[in-house]
Amino acid sequence: MSPAHSLPRGVKEHSVFRSIFAAYPDSLLIADQAGTIVLANPSAAALLGYTMEDLVGLNIDALVPDSIRPCHASYRAAYAQAPHPRPMGTEMDLVARRKDGSEVMVEIALSPLQDQGLPLVVAAIRGVEAYPRVQQALQRARYSEHLAQFGRLAVDARDPQALLDDAPLIAAEALRVQTAMVVLLESDQQAFRVVSGVGLVPGEEVGARISAAPDTSPGFLLTQERPVVVPDYRTEQRFSVPPSYLVAGLVSSLSVPLFDRGRVIGTLAVRSREPKRFGDEELRFLGSLSSLLSTSLQRAQTEETLQHAQRLETVGQLTGGIAHDFNNLLTIIQGNLQVLEELPGIRRNGHAGQLVSAAMRAGHRAAELTGKLLAFSRRQVLQPSAVDMGAMLLSLVDMLRRTLDQHIRIEVEVAPGCPPVLADPGQLESALLNIAVNARDAMPEGGTLRFSAQPCNGLAPRVRRELDYPGSANERFVEIRIADTGIGMPDAVKERAVEPFFTTKEAGRGTGLGLSTVYGFARQSRGALTIDSAPGAGTTVALYIPQPLAAAEAGPQDAPASDAVPPGLQVLLVEDDAEVRKVVQAFLAALGCRIATAANAEQALAALGGGQPFDLLLTDIALGPGMRGTALAAEARARLPRLSVLLMSGFSSELLDADRDAPADWDLLRKPFTRQELAQAIVRVLK
Ligand code: ADP
Ligand code: MG
Repeated sequence: MSPAHSLPRGVKEHSVFRSIFAAYPDSLLIADQAGTIVLANPSAAALLGYTMEDLVGLNIDALVPDSIRPCHASYRAAYAQAPHPRPMGTEMDLVARRKDGSEVMVEIALSPLQDQGLPLVVAAIRGVEAYPRVQQALQRARYSEHLAQFGRLAVDARDPQALLDDAPLIAAEALRVQTAMVVLLESDQQAFRVVSGVGLVPGEEVGARISAAPDTSPGFLLTQERPVVVPDYRTEQRFSVPPSYLVAGLVSSLSVPLFDRGRVIGTLAVRSREPKRFGDEELRFLGSLSSLLSTSLQRAQTEETLQHAQRLETVGQLTGGIAHDFNNLLTIIQGNLQVLEELPGIRRNGHAGQLVSAAMRAGHRAAELTGKLLAFSRRQVLQPSAVDMGAMLLSLVDMLRRTLDQHIRIEVEVAPGCPPVLADPGQLESALLNIAVNARDAMPEGGTLRFSAQPCNGLAPRVRRELDYPGSANERFVEIRIADTGIGMPDAVKERAVEPFFTTKEAGRGTGLGLSTVYGFARQSRGALTIDSAPGAGTTVALYIPQPLAAAEAGPQDAPASDAVPPGLQVLLVEDDAEVRKVVQAFLAALGCRIATAANAEQALAALGGGQPFDLLLTDIALGPGMRGTALAAEARARLPRLSVLLMSGFSSELLDADRDAPADWDLLRKPFTRQELAQAIVRVLK
């Protein structure tokens, strides 16, 4: 049967085929062996963005993306060598290039064709972007591309604000939504603050506060601690929807939490004008974006804390070094003044005596100043003992009540049965006093100053990070809080408050050495210091001081009964600085001691081995190159077990170890010292 028989009368076969070609829903292109298009249907023109006339005569290579074009001619040549039908669906990810340069995902079928002896190829092309599976693949690709983009930013960015600004931009772009925003919880936990966003509605602009109550959208998330999807605001029951959302036409939303070490610190939220806009894919995307953001914020914060600590450490080393040199000089100056004071010629001359005392007073003040610098650099000589906080706070408060302005109310609360702390009592008291004086300065119009102390088993992570050593979890502390209702500090001041010489007070009123010494003292005492403050909201300084480890350390140390050095005491004095040695020698002589001197450990050991009996080894810790004073003392004691040991130091980081490891009957004498202090220390160590 000839095909013509099945066609209606008068209809020509070739015209039917022409109509099919024109009406066919797939794009059809017929190309010759050189790749030139000889025929195209309207569907092809529509898909590829050309007119039909444009397509005819165009080389098929123009329809492939730039990246493939260089190899396309050789593909075509290979196909022409062995033409065969290739159906659709065999290759997934083909892409065609439109006239305007944009790309469209397609499937292509090829069939060889002979027409009047000429080899031709028919390409049937189908745009597949509307297929759900393709849509989903495209969307996934878009999401992961945006995530990767944010990941790169996060790796490079040094400024957390830049990340906060970028996250909503990327979320809005990837999800193609109208609104995206980041809110962070304020430190009082009562509200969120909008920190960045796009398409924000009135009332939620950057900087706005949103209550964290559970009936607000971010407040509700805070109670859930997991993502919240709102399919349609118009039917939302769990929290109240701000009318501005509906006014802006926003009807659905997705919010995910931002975490810091397991705690919700904010949310990343997107809103759309389409109802039920957010499904699992969107949730996964926004969840990944928020964990990237959370981690980056955490990292930025850790780096900032580290940098702050490093800066303080550097300043500490500098000031510590200066103070050390000063202390040696002061030992010489004060020692010589004391010797001078007692010379008969000076004693008889009243005026000269006054001059010498004035110089001594100045020397004393200078020693106090270097003491503060050493305190900050954690290199002061501390003599910790168990201190009862109740007793200390009561006596301090009693003194403050008498000296502070009447407009300042003072309150004390010590938890019943509060354990003692292990700290140098004198330094602890001066730390509390420093903090109280700052509080007074912050309350010119009066207010309340409140001291409290309570045991604290286990430190919050932010406090633990402040420790000077990797604190062990089972260590116990006492938390001493000093709260005022004063002017408070903006962040910029709070961050620098413990730097030495940082002050906001007028010249003559502030030295900037108050909190820095308290900070150094707290850390050297194996404790920590934190400051909570906001402008207008007052300030709370908290000191965390360890409790004594064992009952043995409890109980105040015995005060020396007298400072009478037994006459004729045989002392070996070891000091590398000749001038200091001379001064100490003069002190010892005045105390009636018999003295041998050595400039280093080698000489000292030689003297000890020389057969002369010694009662006391008085040695500096830093002895220049060679054996240090602590090692010398250990060696000497091994040889002469009955020898008493007194160490001297301006500072030494090893002093701290000596503090902990040295036998209990060794003692440390802080430089500079007076003759009386030397005498008292000698009496303490003699047995
Ligand atoms: P100084 O008191 O000599 O200024 P500090 O080291 O004691 O030095 O304090 C540093 C700065 O910290 C002060 O100048 C002040 O700006 C701020 N500061 C300290 N304590 C408080 C407080 N209780 N209230 C407000 N600001 C304070
Ligand atoms: Mg101060």
